[in-house]
Amino acid sequence: MSLRPNALLPVVLAMCAMSAGAQSPAPAPAAPAAAQALYPLMAERSKAVEKKVIAWRRDIHEHPELGNQEKRTAALVAAHLKSLGYEVREGVAVTGVVATLKGGKPGPVVALRADMDALPVKEQVDVPFASKARATWAGKEVDVMHACGHDGHVAILMGVAEVLASMKDQLPGTVKLMFQPAEEKLPNSEIGGARRMLAEGAFDSPKPDVVFGLHLASGLNTGEIGYKAGPITASSDAFKVSVKGRQTHGSMPWSGVDPIVIGSQIVMGFQTIASRQVNVTKEPSVLSVGTFQAGTRYNIIPDNAEMTGTLRTYDEGMREFIMKRMGETAEHIAQSGGGSAHVHFEADGYAPTINDAKLTDQMSPSLQRIPGAKSMIIPKGTGGEDFSFFAQKAPGLFVMVGSTPPGQDASKAEPNHSPRFFMDEASLAVGVRTLTQLSVDYMAMASAAK
Ligand SMILES: [Zn+2]
Ligand SMILES: [Zn+2]
Repeated sequence: MSLRPNALLPVVLAMCAMSAGAQSPAPAPAAPAAAQALYPLMAERSKAVEKKVIAWRRDIHEHPELGNQEKRTAALVAAHLKSLGYEVREGVAVTGVVATLKGGKPGPVVALRADMDALPVKEQVDVPFASKARATWAGKEVDVMHACGHDGHVAILMGVAEVLASMKDQLPGTVKLMFQPAEEKLPNSEIGGARRMLAEGAFDSPKPDVVFGLHLASGLNTGEIGYKAGPITASSDAFKVSVKGRQTHGSMPWSGVDPIVIGSQIVMGFQTIASRQVNVTKEPSVLSVGTFQAGTRYNIIPDNAEMTGTLRTYDEGMREFIMKRMGETAEHIAQSGGGSAHVHFEADGYAPTINDAKLTDQMSPSLQRIPGAKSMIIPKGTGGEDFSFFAQKAPGLFVMVGSTPPGQDASKAEPNHSPRFFMDEASLAVGVRTLTQLSVDYMAMASAAK
């Protein structure tokens, strides 16, 4: 999940309270015979890697690395994948690792993705492997912590890599693993992560037929797997509004142009876009102004005002429409007050993650087959995720894997990005089973359909 560094906390990932609106999916039909034949081996190998996955997660947790700095993590991943016989490409989008394993039988190409980066957060969790790491971020020395569970994502996918490699000869298809840097965005709106991996050929030869991903979520308990068809995470766009007025004495506003009054009207004008100008029955949208800066003294009307904020939507058309209306609203309101305004959107915005409806329907039974887990249909969240860009290139399914210990109220758990974000390590085994089950079942179904 990604939120802008300057808006780090309060991080209200709508992942919290997820189970509140959850529904049970329809009962699952029997798995295809080709998949069932692999289940005993899959169960045995998944169990066999459990301890290793926890050890990897602890190691990565103790050594977290920020976006595009994931050198140690990437080296650990690459060495492991090479030892398993994967064909490994390193340095994709700076530190990304792309690895391919061709199964012994013909079949589709299944891509699996894990993000590797940590956050500029000072850890407050009391565990023996708590992070003491520091690094440079946007020119400043910061504390670093895996506060979004990406340490778990990496460890899970390393485990999945091992399980799938162990059944290579029987595997009806090709596995493509993508260990991605910089999901949490980069300083100065630099474009990295999924988009850059795609630009550097991560989805070329072989081109994936589908892509699966997961996120550990504090809003669900361990064993719960949440998903839905259609949008599951929001688009995430940071914007800046620059208002230009003309400085004057506070006692004589008529002799200048007041950018604070214009800016205030713009903030209010923005609120009418979501409420009055888009079809609220289609998808919701959120537009929040987080900073408003102007002036230096109580009795001076300044030249300029500047606001920043975030826009969240679930539909590309709606996203574009709101962006356009924000520009027009700001410019025309400013004009009416004798000033001018400009809305700038950062180029590193994320698209909404859309789970392919057909693929979600097709794979829903697989999620129900995961031993000891309970899959449920959950409401979409307002967090951002650049898995969205992979899901634009191939039908995608992104699921939430609960990581709050059973028995605790997940709706009250510290959310992802909190310095107190706590991961129940039993959730890692669920993650391994989730991605393995999806891969094996999809390959078997696609091969049976041919
Ligand atoms: Zn995340
Ligand atoms: Zn995150």
